[in-house]
Formats: sequence, structure tokens, C-alpha cells
Amino acid sequence: MSYLHIDGIRKTFGTVIATDHVQLTIEQGEFMTFLGPSGSGKSTTLYIVAGFQDPTAGDITLRGQSILNTPSHKRNIGMVFQRYTLFPHLSVAENIAFPLRVRRMNRADIDDKVRRALALVRLDGFGDRMPARMSGGQQQRVALARALVYDPPVLLMDEPLSALDKKLREEIQHEIRRIHQETGVTILYVTHDQEEALRLSDRIAVFNQGRIEQVGTGPQLYASPATRFVADFVGDSA
Ligand code: ADP
Ligand code: MG
Repeated sequence: MSYLHIDGIRKTFGTVIATDHVQLTIEQGEFMTFLGPSGSGKSTTLYIVAGFQDPTAGDITLRGQSILNTPSHKRNIGMVFQRYTLFPHLSVAENIAFPLRVRRMNRADIDDKVRRALALVRLDGFGDRMPARMSGGQQQRVALARALVYDPPVLLMDEPLSALDKKLREEIQHEIRRIHQETGVTILYVTHDQEEALRLSDRIAVFNQGRIEQVGTGPQLYASPATRFVADFVGDSA
């Protein structure tokens, strides 16, 4: 049985076809990246997995069960966005604790989980800071800690590094890889940056105009691109 299955997802907004027949199986623990230009349907697909949007047609299954009728907050899927996702009036520890409070976990367990999550993203001792007093990179680590604190089955990241400068981006890419290895969490990652996709992913799904053109490892896409688009787009980083 496949772990996460995106089964023929189509999404239209009026006459705009955002995604069309997106079909993809993600294995447990896999790091899968959606790579493609702006407007190719990457975020829409991610939002449908997260439950922020309903598909026009198709299904999403996790461990063989459809999750389409499960509301977003009950899917337990972690999500990190590009920027500005922390609650500015809450401390770092309170930000990370938030999803656990919503789940009515007791205080001692919350404190323990928050401490571990801070250690995972290498921010031990930063719990009392306010987000505004931290750098953009540190804020994204806090967002990552908050997304992982309840051990989600899947972690979704939508261009989480695109607001950061190159040096910081590389530093956090390294951290994301380490966290993936340490936790074994299944990751769906969105980027329009070929280099980033090649550096991070087990496999890459190349999006173009709402469809997946090809799925494969970085070396596979390089060595045998299925279409001209894949050759041009993936080859860009060489
Ligand atoms: P990407 O994340 O790859 O940049 P999106 O999934 O955001 O692409 O968008 C795919 C297409 O769907 C684009 O043409 C976009 O304009 C359109 N789209 C996305 N969301 C909406 C919306 N809420 N209303 C109308 N059109 C949308
Ligand atoms: Mg997007």
C-alpha cells in the first residue's frame, strides 16, 4: 500500500485550470519536491493535501484511506510557508506550543515536546524570545519546530526559503536535510529553484501548466528528461 497518494487531482477556479490530473505516490519517509515555474500548480496541489482547498476532482489517500472528508486541522499535517507565519504576540515557546494546546495536551507534556522541538531545530534556550527579535532564518526554524512538534505524518513546505538570502538559504537547506534524516518525516517540498530541489530531494516531480511532466531522482531527470520542458527547466541550474 502506498503511503501518500495524490490521485488524479484536478482543481479549477472558474475557467482557470490550476491543476489537471495530478497523479503521484509518495513513500513513507520520502523527501519529494514539486519543482516548476510560478503558476504551474504546485501550491494548489499542496493546499489540497493540507485540506485548505477541496479538489474539483480526484482523491488524496494516506495509508490507503481518503482524507478528503477530514477537516484540515484533523489531518495533523505540518505546514511551513514562505514567511510571516509566527504569531507575533506569542513567545517562541508559546508559538511552538500552540498546536499542542489546540489538542489539549497537558502542560508537562507540552513543555517536554517544546523543549525537544527547540533542540531539533538547534534553538535551545530561545523559548522566551519574541519572534520579532529573531532573524528571518531563526523565525523559519521556529516555524519548522511548530510544524513538527506533534509528529505529523507529513510535513508540507511551500517555498520556505525564498524570502531568505543565499547564505541563509544554504544554511537552512542543510538543517532541513538533517531534520529529515533525524525524524524520518515524509516531506512534500515546493520550490521553483532547481538547485534547491536537486540538493534536498529523494525525488522531484516537475510541474508545468498544472500537470506533472516527469517524476524522478535529480540524476534521472538530468540524464533522461522526458520532455523538452524538463530538459530546459532542470538543465537551467547546470
Ligand atoms: P504555483 O504554486 O506553482 O506558483 P499555483 O498553484 O499557486 O501555482 O497556481 C496555479 C494556477 O492557479 C495559476 O494560474 C493561479 O493563478 C491559479 N490560482 C491559484 N489559486 C487561485 C485562486 N484562489 N483563484 C483563482 N486562481 C487561482
Ligand atoms: Mg506557489
